Order: sequence, then C-alpha cells, then structure tokens
Amino acid sequence: MMTKRVYTFGNGRAEGKATMRNLLGGKGANLAEMNLIGVPVPPGFTITTDVCSEYFELGKEKVVSILKEDVEVAIKGVETLMNSKFGYEGNPLLVSVRSGARASMPGMMDTILNLGLNDAVVEGLTRKTGNPRFVWDSYRRFVQMYGDVVLGMKPVNKNDIDPFEEIIESIKKEKGVKLDTELSVDDLKKLVVFFKAAVKKQTGKDFPDNSYDQLWGAICAVFDSWMNERAILYRKMEGIPAEWGTAVTVQAMVFGNMGDTSATGVCFSRDAATGEDMFMGEYLINAQGEDVVAGIRTPQQITIEGSKRWAVLAGISEEDRFAKYPSMEEAMPTIYKELNSIQAKLENHYRDMQDMEFTVQEGKLWFLQTRNGKRTGAAMVKIAIDMLHQGMIDEKTAVLRIEPNKLDELLHPVFDKKAIKEAKVIAKGLAASPGAASGKIVFNADDAAEWAKRGEKVIMVRIETSPEDLAGMAAAQGILTARGGMTSHAAVVARGMGKCCVSGAGALKIDYATKTIEVNGFSLKEGDAISLNGSTGDIYQGAVGTKEAEVDADFAELMSLANKYTRMTVRTNADTPKDAEIARKFGATGIGLCRTEHMFFEGEKIKAMREMILAEDTEGRRIALAKILPYQKADFKGIFKAMHDMPVTIRLLDPPLHEFVPHEEKEQAELAKTMGISLKKIQQRVNDLHEANPMLGHRGCRLGNTYPEITEMQTRAILSAALELQEEGITAIPEIMVPLTGILYEFLEQEKIIRQTAEELFAETNSRIEYKVGTMIEIPRAALTANRIASAAEFFSFGTNDLTQMTFGYSRDDIASFLPTYLEKKILKVDPFQVLDQKGVGQLIQMATEKGRSVRPDLKCGICGEHGGEPSSVEFCHRVGLDYVSCSPFRVPIARIAAAQAALR
Ligand code: PEP
Ligand code: MG
Repeated sequence: MMTKRVYTFGNGRAEGKATMRNLLGGKGANLAEMNLIGVPVPPGFTITTDVCSEYFELGKEKVVSILKEDVEVAIKGVETLMNSKFGYEGNPLLVSVRSGARASMPGMMDTILNLGLNDAVVEGLTRKTGNPRFVWDSYRRFVQMYGDVVLGMKPVNKNDIDPFEEIIESIKKEKGVKLDTELSVDDLKKLVVFFKAAVKKQTGKDFPDNSYDQLWGAICAVFDSWMNERAILYRKMEGIPAEWGTAVTVQAMVFGNMGDTSATGVCFSRDAATGEDMFMGEYLINAQGEDVVAGIRTPQQITIEGSKRWAVLAGISEEDRFAKYPSMEEAMPTIYKELNSIQAKLENHYRDMQDMEFTVQEGKLWFLQTRNGKRTGAAMVKIAIDMLHQGMIDEKTAVLRIEPNKLDELLHPVFDKKAIKEAKVIAKGLAASPGAASGKIVFNADDAAEWAKRGEKVIMVRIETSPEDLAGMAAAQGILTARGGMTSHAAVVARGMGKCCVSGAGALKIDYATKTIEVNGFSLKEGDAISLNGSTGDIYQGAVGTKEAEVDADFAELMSLANKYTRMTVRTNADTPKDAEIARKFGATGIGLCRTEHMFFEGEKIKAMREMILAEDTEGRRIALAKILPYQKADFKGIFKAMHDMPVTIRLLDPPLHEFVPHEEKEQAELAKTMGISLKKIQQRVNDLHEANPMLGHRGCRLGNTYPEITEMQTRAILSAALELQEEGITAIPEIMVPLTGILYEFLEQEKIIRQTAEELFAETNSRIEYKVGTMIEIPRAALTANRIASAAEFFSFGTNDLTQMTFGYSRDDIASFLPTYLEKKILKVDPFQVLDQKGVGQLIQMATEKGRSVRPDLKCGICGEHGGEPSSVEFCHRVGLDYVSCSPFRVPIARIAAAQAALR
C-alpha cells in the first residue's frame, strides 16, 4: 500500500482523527477531530510526522518531490471549500503553516501566517475587502515572519534589535509617531519594500512571489524548526524524543483583523492557574492571533466575571473596565454564546481541560485549535478531582491524569505569613503562575543562567519573554514581565515549568541598557533583591522569607486514591526527626534510609567523631565512641519517635573517614589540643587517611569490619533507643542496614557483631525488642551473588547511587565533566544518576530480587537511591516486584502517585 503522507480536513469531514496524534501531531489530530464533532474549523491538511523523519533522512528536495502531488491536490480541496484560489489575485486563498508535535511544545517551533500574499494578490485582496490597511498590514507581517523564519533574517549580534523592527522604528521616527497603528497604508507599503530589500541585502535571496514557492519554503522551515536550539532544549527538559518529529498543518487563513466585527482570542475551559471550573480567556477586537500572546496590546477577558476579577487585580475601575476593556460576553454577546457552548462541547468530548484558539471573521466564529491545556500543579490536582466529582472521569483516570513531577509545585514554599505582612509591595502584575519566589534581579536569560550557575537565586525581569529566554527562565526562581497577559509566552511557559511568574506589570519601566527599573517611585537595579507572589501578582521589595506549602483536601483525596491503587509503599530517606515528620505528613510509611553519618557533623559530635577516627588503636577508638554513643542514641530516639509504629531502616556508618577529619591547620591544631597529641601526629593521620579512590576505598561495611567497635556502638545506640521508647510505650521498629556489602562474609561478620551486641544489651536491660538485619545492594557483585547474601540478610535495599556508579564505572562526583557531551551526542539519553538505567542497573536489581527471593521468599526489597523519587524509575521498581521505594520527603507524594500509576498501567 502507498504511504499516506497528507491528511485533509474541512467542512465536517476529516481523513484523520483524535487517536492519530503520533502521526498527525496534537494539532493535526485535533483539527481532524474537531471537524468530525461539528466544530467550525477552517479547512486544511496535515503532513505527517513520519514525513519529518523522511525529511531529515532524505533531504529537502527529495521530500518536496515526494509530497508535491498530494499537497497540490489538498490545496485544491481547500480552495473549493473556501471558494478562493491560492495565489490568484481575484479571490486569493491565504494559508497558515504550523508545526504540531505529538506533545505540545508551545512557541518552540516556527509558524507562518498569511502565506500566499504577493504584490498582485495584495491588490486583489484590497479590492475584495476594501480594507487596504488590513491587507498591507497582513502583507508586511507575512514578509516579516517569512523573512525571519524561512529566510533566516535574525539579528546578527545578541545585542542588536530585530532587523525588521529596526526598519519599523526608523519609519516611525521619520513620521514622528509612536504606535504601529499610527502608520499609514503608504508607510506599510514602504515597509514591505524595505523589508524585501533588507532580506536581499542580508541573505542574498529574493523574497519569493510564487505562492507554491512560499509554501514549500514554509513547510521545510517548519520541519527545520524541529531541530532548532530552543526546541532541542525544550525536548531535553520535557523528555521528548527527537525521533517523534513534527507534523506540518496547512490551513486556510481566517482574519480577526477585518474590523470591529472581527476578533481573535485564546481561551481555557477551566482556569489553568488555579483549576477553578470557570470558562476563561482573553481576546482582542480587530487583531491577529499573535497580538493576544505577544503582549503588545492588553488583551480583554472573555467572560464578565473574568473581566471583573482582572480589573480588580489590575487596579482598573468598573467604569473604565466597561468602557475600555469590556468582556466578550458584553461586547459580542451572540458570538460569546456560541463560543461558550462549543468550549463546553469540546471539554465534554475530550474529558479534559481544553486550551483553545479562535478567530471571529466578520461575525463568523472559527476555532483554530484545541488541545488539553497546560496547567499548574495545583490546577492539575483540582481539575482531576473536580472532574471525578462531576462524573466526567473515573478514579483511575483521575490518578493517571497527574504528572507526578508537577506535584512538586504544590509542595514548594509559600511566603511566610508574618514576613509577607511586613514586606512592601512595590507593584502588581498578573498572577501568571503561582508560588513564591525571591531572588536578585537579572535582565536577560544569559545572566539568569550564569548567576544561577554560581549559586545565586535570581528573578528574571523582562519587558516580555520569547522562546529564546527559555534557558534563563529555567534557571530563575521566578519570572517578572512588564507586558503580556495570562496567555503571554512568559505566563504559559512558566506555568508549564511550575515556576512562579508575575506578568504584565505595566508600572515597571525597565531599561535594559542601564539594567535598572523605575517603578512607582522606587529604583531597582541589577542584583537588588525582589520577591514575587505568582498567586496574587504582588511584587515585593527585598527578599521575603518563605514557609513550607500546606496541601488541601483535593490533594489529600488524590493521595488516598493513590493508596487505593498502589501495590508498592513509599518510604522516605530522612536523617532528622523534622524531615521524618514532613515525610510522614506526605504519607511516607517508614524510613527506607537513615544515613547515620549526617548525624555526626553537629557541635560536639564532630569532635568526638574526629577523635575516634584519629585514634591510634582500638582502645582510643572505644573511648571516643563512648562519647558519641549518647548523642547517637538521642538522635535515634528522635527519629523512632517521629516514625512510631513504622519501620525505620538505619544504615551503619558508610562514608570514607577522611570526610570527617579537619583539613585546615587551625582546626587540626585545636583537635591536637583536645586529644593531647601533637599537631604533627594529627597531620600524619589525616595524610594516612588519604585515598586515591575514596569511593572505592575504606568505606561502607569495610569500616565496620576493620573497626568492629563502630558497629557495636551504633547497634547499641539504635537498640537502646528503641528499648527506651518501648518502656515509654512507643513502638520503634528498627531495621539495621549494612552498607556496601559485596561478599557474603562481609555481611556475616557484621551480622555477628550486631546480634552479639544486641544480646548483650538485652541481657543488661533484661528486655528485648524485634529488629531486622539486612543490607544495601550497591555493588554489582552483591547483586550477582544475591542468593548467597539473602541466605543471611533479612532485607535488601538497592542503593542505586552507588550501584549506578559501579555498574557504569562513572564516578558519582565527577560525571559532570563528560555528561553534557554524552547527552548532547546522545551517547546517554538521560543522566543515569537521575533516571534509573533500566537496561543495565535495572537488570541487576531485577536479578538480585529474584535470586534473593529464591532462597528467602519473604525477602523485603526496596530502593533508596535518588531514583526512588523519579517517576519512570518508580514504575520500573513496581514492575520488578520491589516492596517499596524510598525517597527524600518532598518527593514522597510524587513517588506515591508514580507507584499508583504503575499499578494502574
Ligand atoms: C546509594 O548509594 O544509592 C545510597 C542510597 O547511599 P549513598 O547515596 O549514601 O551512598
Ligand atoms: Mg551508597
């Protein structure tokens, strides 16, 4: 069968449908589906994502020749439906050419509008519309867009302004006007001529007049844009594979700028920021689509309710609102009704919140696109639970609707209530993306990335953002813009990233050249601290303290659904009672890893620890360990108490000892004095501890096996803490974990010491307590001989940080030197220390679990490396039958959802 490359749609018919997203891209599939359900959509056709792959394989010319006939036939079909003709001056058809990948990538790839215009068509269209201004404005926009996207007319240097903008500015200056709208038709004509001349001068190419030449240029440019820098960066951040490719949709143009009965807008079937079940959106009368998102004019709200709320936030009186910024519901009531009923139809059809674009051309409403809307973490949870309550989706769908990583936004700090009361509001903008952020002002993306790299918290302040700012936005704590509405680039992208953003703060007078802001009598400069509240739009002077987030009833309901459908449980990695409590609140069912070494760094403890390490013999070590014991016991009591009735896995000392000793002479001298030995001796011991490969050196159970008294002390501290709590009526469930086991006998030796010490303690106190002894599996040899190790160990916990390090042979600490190159060259798809390598490391986990359970069927297995809170790794753990995952406290809800989703998939 011949490969079908072009799928047409229009007038209630379509060759594609919603389920063909992979082939037609989200946009193409939706346009087809919208036709099929009776939504008014301008006709057109979609070239498949497979063609994108062919394009990069076979090259431009070959693909154009393969497509030629199909595209020409499809254009004829559109001409018939629109009763117009492509490139014909009498009754011209204009088209848009847009990208559309399987996953939404807002603003990342290129789009061309008004394609089909040339000097002759412009005359014809002018005659037909009687609106030369609109036609010439469309033409100059087209030449500008096409010049930029297809012909590569970009600023030569980073600091240059756009070459077309430069021309516009010079004409405005010559005329003494400020706004684009003040330019006359003759000025617009002049612009077109100048633009074309500039194209010729900078690129050496003539601007194409033939409509089909224009079309092929645009189609190829959209394919090319799949590989542009910002699309590649976005894909990397969102984990979208390059192989997916983009589809290209060519569609008849309709115009929102044909006078006062025309309009254009974007709308959401629910509030994308809060999730509130309220139709909302923005529109502009007599405007083109990009005007709404570009932040050049202030968009008006669709509904009366939305408009009133907006006016309150923007500080605009009701009279002014009604007179200058009326809602669509007020200004175009009939169209509004149709819009409202179609948006409801679309939401019902897709059973998810829709993000829609529409145009009204001389009183006729056209939908340009609909897609499942991007939303904040808070909106994601609220919409899922609301739709569940409204009977639109079932429980499983509600759980599956959650993007686990997005929950992060709900769990992040908000402003401290007291601090915020005292903080000074210097201006207000739109609450574009919720959360609290504070940091130092920077004015461009490069600075944001650079400052963040050196550990500064920054707020990126821009007049408006563009897709080029993506890396800077990712690096900043928050984003503040002077222009643009809730659907501006900054707002949409920040919401997608879960980043705090205040947009459209018109009072800010930003000067990039001097790196200053004048706002309501305040002067701010680069490096000054400000704070943003993305939920209210408030902008504060200085850094305002933050407080942990509190989660609401919807979140709690979602979490209980997760519990209902999960098989694995989620524990936490915590070393302090405070962390343990946070994790418990988030639903952790135990501690999977308590790293005891973290307890040694405070105050007196580090002194005794150093004394222990630097002691010359067992006797010296015992004296120092006796000093540490009460501290350790108190620490363990605190943790057991916080996690009462839940298992707590405590790992024996793991890191190489040199990490604890002082390397500065001043501290060494102090220690010498405390220990009553010479500085030289101390320095000698410190030197002795130096290792060429400390991660592969004297650490883990190798410490306990060379210095059994450490294991003794820690066992004593753990079990006596548990016994004392037992006396107080609090149930502690200790699990003692031996780190870095590679050989059965290493474990057996440690187990012997632990059990002997326990028996001694039980005899001394005349009481007993249940406890388990198990091990971490972090060394490939341990995984390979897991059946032997499980003959003695009562549980396994996969330490995937070390297991990854040792399986790949990549140093955990030094991977940064080559990882970026590896990612760029796609030698590695992702950082294996973040996302579990299922093929290699995962295979070891699966094998070790099976081998271990072959000798001990009830062997409890879990994971406690960083991967324990990463959704795809959690899913893997479910698949290979682990009992639990353990992760840092704030990732517990994410892991719970990921675990439930794994069980549901
Ligand atoms: C591990 O190696 O995965 C682990 C949890 O231990 P640590 O990170 O402390 O080495
Ligand atoms: Mg480890």
